Amino acid sequence: MEKRSWAEPYKIKMVELIKMTTKEERQAAIIEAGYNTFLLKSEDVYIDLLTDSGVGAMSDRQWAGIMMGDEAYAGSRNFYHLRDAVESHYSYRFTVPTHQGRGAENILSQLLIKEGDYLPGNMYFTTTRLHQELAGGTFVDIIIDEAHDPNSTHPFKGNVDFIKLDNLVNEVGADKIPYVCIATCVNMAGGQPISLASLRELRKWCDKHGILIVHDMTRVAENAYFIQQREEGYRSKTVKEIVSEICELTDAATMSSKKDAMVNIGGFLAMNDARLYEQACELVVVYEGLHTYGGMAGRDMEALAIGITESVQDDHMQARVGQIEYLWDRLESAGVPLVKPCGGHAVFLDARAMLPHLPQNQFPAQALAAALYVESGIRAMERGVVSAGRDKNTGQNRLPKLELVRLTIPRRVYTQAHMDVTAESVIRVMKHADEVKGLRFTYEPRMLRFFQGRFEECLAGTE
Ligand SMILES: *Cc1c(COP(=O)(O)O)cnc(C)c1O
Repeated sequence: MEKRSWAEPYKIKMVELIKMTTKEERQAAIIEAGYNTFLLKSEDVYIDLLTDSGVGAMSDRQWAGIMMGDEAYAGSRNFYHLRDAVESHYSYRFTVPTHQGRGAENILSQLLIKEGDYLPGNMYFTTTRLHQELAGGTFVDIIIDEAHDPNSTHPFKGNVDFIKLDNLVNEVGADKIPYVCIATCVNMAGGQPISLASLRELRKWCDKHGILIVHDMTRVAENAYFIQQREEGYRSKTVKEIVSEICELTDAATMSSKKDAMVNIGGFLAMNDARLYEQACELVVVYEGLHTYGGMAGRDMEALAIGITESVQDDHMQARVGQIEYLWDRLESAGVPLVKPCGGHAVFLDARAMLPHLPQNQFPAQALAAALYVESGIRAMERGVVSAGRDKNTGQNRLPKLELVRLTIPRRVYTQAHMDVTAESVIRVMKHADEVKGLRFTYEPRMLRFFQGRFEECLAGTE
């Protein structure tokens, strides 16, 4: 079939100027940042692909919503708009706003997890797992094996492996499993979707065992788009319809609205159970704020309510994922090792394949992200052994099969020309990959070490 070009379903009304730097300046900046792209100053970055979190471009309607903020301490009208948007798009009856996704994870983990519980999930997420552990639980990976193989082209790498789930129940008993955590468009697997078939089977399995499903719905719209494109029988359904169908199969949800919903800050906890809602309202006042603002300004709740509506439009999703596929195709055709198939929010470079001379204990993905910055001023993020952290029992580095650099594409921010520059820069780094040196920690934080850890280059011949 003839390939038709697509274009963004919006035009640009305002621009933000960005700065070019010299290679010498970037070399100095990365050393000062301890080879951690999280510690670079944003001013020193040319194209910022660190994350898609809180960096989307809001629409003129969202900005108009900002001006409609009702900053009352209690009962702001914007809260009711948000609650209605959540119920009508995501189907959950009750909404508790939080300052961002991890605020919701904290409350939910404290409410549902007891010391000694197990939390199966379709791959871990950094903050999610930490809150599960802080509440006394242990995360168990129940994603299909294909998700851990960057070369597998399985269309739904976010699917659940029911043998792994059955084994867990047999080992620990259903009463030690308060819920299964399901991420839509699994971030750590490369932005890979779960199918509705897998989710429906999970619903049955959970009903049989009396276990809840908690939905990490940060990127549910992207997952819905992949279902529309890839799953049998969904071609004529809208993204909005598929989003509802996903949410209806789950019991409660945590949301970082800084992703799908294109606001700079915010999140929420949502659920259908009135008792759980009551308990969440009690806890949210301790950690976030009153249950009608939970750490968010009224104006931000309004922008979020509007962003939810925009995030489930078919033309929006087509352009969103289309841009990532464009970058993915350019890199793939140049022979850059990537996580396959293309994900929903980012292109993931396989750092082990790109830097085969570096052992995993020299943090190849961390080193590759630093090298890409020095080459071009593009900021990416490590998603490998540094992000995985240490095992809570043995204290050893967890060695994930996926040692990745994530080029995360903010929503509605960069142009196709920026994608071209990015592809060319990655290809240049790949050509000189053997010059990239391994790293070692000079400072290692105890928790979520990837955010603030500092590194230096290993000397030749040392560990
Ligand atoms: C970002 C993210 C979170 C945490 O949300 P924050 O808003 O950053 O606190 C949780 N789960 C997933 C999958 C995420 O991508």
